[in-house]
Amino acid sequence: MTKRRAVIAGGGIGGLACGLALAKTGWDVEVLEQAPELREVGAGIQVSPNGMAMLERLGVLPLIEDTLFEPDAIELRIGRTGRKVFRLPMKGYAQNRWGHRFIQIHRADLHDALVNALRAQPSAQLRTNAKVTGYVRERGGASVYLERGDRVFGDLLVGADGVRSEIRGQMCGPDRARFTGNVAWRSVVPVAALGDNAPPPFGVIWAGRGKHAVTTRVKGGSHVNFVGIVEQDDWTEEGWSIPGSIEDALADFGDWQPCLRSVLEASSGLFRWALYGRPPLAMWCDGPVTLLGDAAHPMLPSMAQGAVMALEDAVVLADVLSQDSDRARAVQTYEALRKPRVTRVQARSAANARMFHRHNGLAQLGTYGPMAVASRLSPTIIQQQQDWIYGFDAGA
Ligand SMILES: Cc1cc2nc3c(=O)[nH]c(=O)nc-3n(C[C@H](O)[C@H](O)[C@H](O)COP(=O)(O)OP(=O)(O)OC[C@H]3O[C@@H](n4cnc5c(N)ncnc54)[C@H](O)[C@@H]3O)c2cc1C
Repeated sequence: MTKRRAVIAGGGIGGLACGLALAKTGWDVEVLEQAPELREVGAGIQVSPNGMAMLERLGVLPLIEDTLFEPDAIELRIGRTGRKVFRLPMKGYAQNRWGHRFIQIHRADLHDALVNALRAQPSAQLRTNAKVTGYVRERGGASVYLERGDRVFGDLLVGADGVRSEIRGQMCGPDRARFTGNVAWRSVVPVAALGDNAPPPFGVIWAGRGKHAVTTRVKGGSHVNFVGIVEQDDWTEEGWSIPGSIEDALADFGDWQPCLRSVLEASSGLFRWALYGRPPLAMWCDGPVTLLGDAAHPMLPSMAQGAVMALEDAVVLADVLSQDSDRARAVQTYEALRKPRVTRVQARSAANARMFHRHNGLAQLGTYGPMAVASRLSPTIIQQQQDWIYGFDAGA
């Protein structure tokens, strides 16, 4: 029997995971990445237990063991005062409650692991300098057009080309990704550069008026990862890696806890990153063509679930395709299985951003006061609220 061939547009976390999941279930795979090199931006990422379940299924865990960091807990604190709202235990606890660890890792380390795992699959190819500009359905599959002129055919085409997806643009009509009104600061700093003033060695969400920050550890715990999300009226610069000045970052976070100030002051590379999104799509499929990850469902990072949802998508898509040889029907099953969950996560991410950004003292008190009291009276109440996200095994 001739092997089925999948073409994947985009070599980010979603596209690589999808290539790996398909190669492991018998597909010939070609991943087409527009960039000249396969790499991720310099920032951290959190992978919750539901994402770790996917990485385990994909056989990637041994490749990240040396670089991941398992935090003791995640805390919500007030950025200015440092006052704790609640603490969600993680180390040991996550494995027991949700079946897998909760980890923090540098994006490049996760990305490299996925690249290496994919390269180890004899039936997979990765091509860089391969910008996809559109597709045509033909011969029961689809061909993509590359900017450089070639045309690449697959029995299946997956658009994993991010929030500004060309595949989605053609499938669903040209609509521009919308600026969400939030800009992200990011920086990674060695702990050793911070002396006694490093953020706590676990995950902290620092909430404030119209903004929040998150500090995590990456590179096995040796580096602090800082992300600061700030509401802003408009944004005109395109791109993911716009350098920003320490002065501008301090204007946003300088009067928060001293450990945050010390991270910004010690930063040798501070970048800003405009956050774009779009409302949930009416459809993700066109015959044997489908979408995955941010191309299908971009979301604000306030639940740390965007990449994790892409990992879940990848495993589910490969699973349904291995159970149904009718590809057009299988991708519809994939969409039907994934849409309710990712739509809920998109909505919760937006709600979390609003919750972390309460604009005045009264609203903060009304939100965080009851949370702090509830988590003291009933210590597992916050954990229970995470069960539907973290306790879900998309491959089961
Ligand atoms: C500040 C911030 C913090 C975050 N933190 C977390 C977190 O802690 N946990 C989490 O799970 N998620 C997090 N996310 C979300 C996560 O980063 C994204 O959801 C995830 O990267 C999506 O992966 P993707 O592969 O779908 O898309 P992308 O990462 O955007 O990858 C798309 C790839 O496609 C390529 N491409 C684009 N167009 C084309 C084309 N035409 N042809 C060929 N290639 C193309 C791009 O170069 C890129 O390599 C965060 C996001 C932000 C902004």
